[in-house]
Amino acid sequence: MSTKRTLPFAGVIGLLGMLAAAPAHAYCRTSTTSAPTVDGHVCTPAQKDDSGLPVFWGMPRITYSVQVDASKDIPFDTARLAIRTAFDAWTSADCEGQPPRLELIEGAPAICALDEYNKDRGNANIIFFVDEGWSDDSFKLAITTVTFDVNSGEIYDADMALNTTHWPFTTNGAPDGIDLLSVLTHEAGHFLGLNHSPDPEASMTAHYQPPEQMDMRSLAEDDRAGICAIYPPGPLADGCDATPRHGFSALCAEDQSGPVLDAPPTGERCCCLEGDTCVDGICVEAPGGCACTTHPAPLGPGAVTIPLAALVASLRRRRAAGGRRAQAPS
Ligand SMILES: [Zn+2]
Repeated sequence: MSTKRTLPFAGVIGLLGMLAAAPAHAYCRTSTTSAPTVDGHVCTPAQKDDSGLPVFWGMPRITYSVQVDASKDIPFDTARLAIRTAFDAWTSADCEGQPPRLELIEGAPAICALDEYNKDRGNANIIFFVDEGWSDDSFKLAITTVTFDVNSGEIYDADMALNTTHWPFTTNGAPDGIDLLSVLTHEAGHFLGLNHSPDPEASMTAHYQPPEQMDMRSLAEDDRAGICAIYPPGPLADGCDATPRHGFSALCAEDQSGPVLDAPPTGERCCCLEGDTCVDGICVEAPGGCACTTHPAPLGPGAVTIPLAALVASLRRRRAAGGRRAQAPS
């Protein structure tokens, strides 16, 4: 059967009309079709190249770890404060009078400084600086790597790397530096499941344009709509477990001793809203997707790790394509 479809001419006109009438904001979520050469996304309003399922944290109480060495330019405590502020911008978004159902907890510092997800070792959601030896394209300011279940879109792990090898990050708004808080706010959006927005006013725009870039510290309407859609307001259960998948470890996989874990921890780590039902790891009544997970969760073919290109080529105000690659399933 052919996969081609022919739209009636009137249908095309109708679509164009809809696009012309679309609101200025159009947030996009990262989707499960993200692949080495595919920018998988699902946008609102819908775009013609939307595909796959949006990714999301199934347990919206999330622990992150700041890498203990921070940067030669950014002391550890300065980094901690900026990262906290960046996440707070998202968790305090106004969803019609309530915050999104989302909580970010700073956990123990990470010793590991790699963006890795370990399918049989402990994990941490690490924010780290690469002062030397940034291995990706030098024009990228940062990269957030999100690992998710390809079948459900549930995020397993997210790590954020800041390119201090090539860029002078600052925290005081100096015009010749890269505003750390702006970049962190943008990356936090990726961390939480958002993709780049076509709205140039959004914190999730792919364009970093000094000196206006400090506007990115504050969410635009587009960003607010996105985070409220992913994590609609609601209570978090007291028992909601924020432990990273397979347990927390400050160490990289190769430095972890002890028995190798052959399965995620068993038992329910549920953040369902009261009255919801957890079916095969999916909280069926929760708006916006899964809100509870029972381990071992259905893994299907496995997890995919996707590095999301960050703000790019800032000083020349050009956007460049981000490198993406899929790694081994978990
Ligand atoms: Zn980005």
